Amino acid sequence: MFSLFRKRHNCYCAFCKSPRRIYRKKNISFLNIIGSALAAVVFMFVLWQQYDPRAIIVFVVCLAISEVFVKIRWRLSVVCRQCGFDPVLYLKDPEAAALKVKDQLVVRQQDPKYLLSRPLNLPAIPAEKAKALQSKGKGRLVSRSI
Ligand SMILES: [Zn+2]
Repeated sequence: MFSLFRKRHNCYCAFCKSPRRIYRKKNISFLNIIGSALAAVVFMFVLWQQYDPRAIIVFVVCLAISEVFVKIRWRLSVVCRQCGFDPVLYLKDPEAAALKVKDQLVVRQQDPKYLLSRPLNLPAIPAEKAKALQSKGKGRLVSRSI
């Protein structure tokens, strides 16, 4: 029951299986709308010292800013910090997601910060599947562990 009210959700990375926490909220909620209305009212009284219809524009701008902030926060929390896997990008363009993971793995290899960290639990290709892939002749299999 309490898990419904938590802002963050515990889960595992789909690629490296490391535990992570992502934000649940993708869009603004009713509280954000009330907050934007309050900010618009405060802004209205600070700027014009009376009721002014231009506050509606301020309200809409506040809504847009909060929506963008919540969206960016969710989008950044979805990307795995260990391996760089981005599930949203993977759905749109799997090749670009694979390139991103490869780049992150290169960074992990070269950065001394990761020397003593726990190794990633990366998926490995079984021997039979590796042979099948090589026999197809599509591309070159560099390593059985990705
Ligand atoms: Zn990961």
